[in-house]
Amino acid sequence: MNRRQQQAASEQARKRAVQLGETGDTAAVDELIDLCSHPGPTVRRAAASALGKLATDNAVHTAIPVLCLLARDPHPQVRQYALWALGKMGNEEALPVLRDRANQTSGPDYVIAAALKAMEQIDMVARKRQESSPASCSRCGRQTTGEERRLSKTQFQRAYCSACFDAVFIERRHFDMKVQNQKTILATDRTVVQSKGERQIADWLSTHKIAYRYDDKFQIIQGFATRPDFYLPQHDLYIEYWGMDTTDYKIGMLLKQKLYQQEGKSSSRSSRRTCLISTGNSWHPCGRRKTEYDPS
Ligand SMILES: [Zn+2]
Repeated sequence: MNRRQQQAASEQARKRAVQLGETGDTAAVDELIDLCSHPGPTVRRAAASALGKLATDNAVHTAIPVLCLLARDPHPQVRQYALWALGKMGNEEALPVLRDRANQTSGPDYVIAAALKAMEQIDMVARKRQESSPASCSRCGRQTTGEERRLSKTQFQRAYCSACFDAVFIERRHFDMKVQNQKTILATDRTVVQSKGERQIADWLSTHKIAYRYDDKFQIIQGFATRPDFYLPQHDLYIEYWGMDTTDYKIGMLLKQKLYQQEGKSSSRSSRRTCLISTGNSWHPCGRRKTEYDPS
């Protein structure tokens, strides 16, 4: 096949994918899965998009593994549409891939945004599922036993089947260990923190005799726990310090801020390391450093 013929074939396959997405018929899933491995990127993009359009039907969830592969496609627009489709499906199976994609520092911002958005959608679906059927596992949707619910609600404030309980337990323990390993810096009041910036905040707070809790697992709303960097109980104020400008931090921040907003609590953050390193006693409630040009 010459180049022109190849282009024509690709265009035909792309049109076919678009058409299949518009039928709303889940019988098209297998054909769309095949089109996901088409050599033409515009075809793969259209196939991902079509699968996203059909996502409301659970039968389409068989396409999740192939969409997870497309989420790593060399073409950013293919990745974007695959991430979008995974978000529409709202299945937690895709979360590890989405997290990985959101953490990529290379590539266009719209791919990261698509990964973040998809994670948010999956979280929303899990919450809705939990509200409509409190007896089902909030991770896989399977019916849970009374004992499973009792155990997982005590541990995680959510209902999980025993398989998901184990998976979540390992994920959380891994995360806790990672945080714990990063705590190597001693503040004046002997609190062990993760960065020099955090030490400055801790020292400033203790110098000013402001009571605080550091990295305390603090339940904000029923079902969702969060751990703010600093919590000032006397002021009901959270301080989140962005030690790194990575997407991982941004995801956490985004989700945390949402929770804080829902609770109507005050949330204070600094978006740049330098803002707080040079803070002293002159920072805004929003965490931004006051300057002589902006003394409010
Ligand atoms: Zn489960």
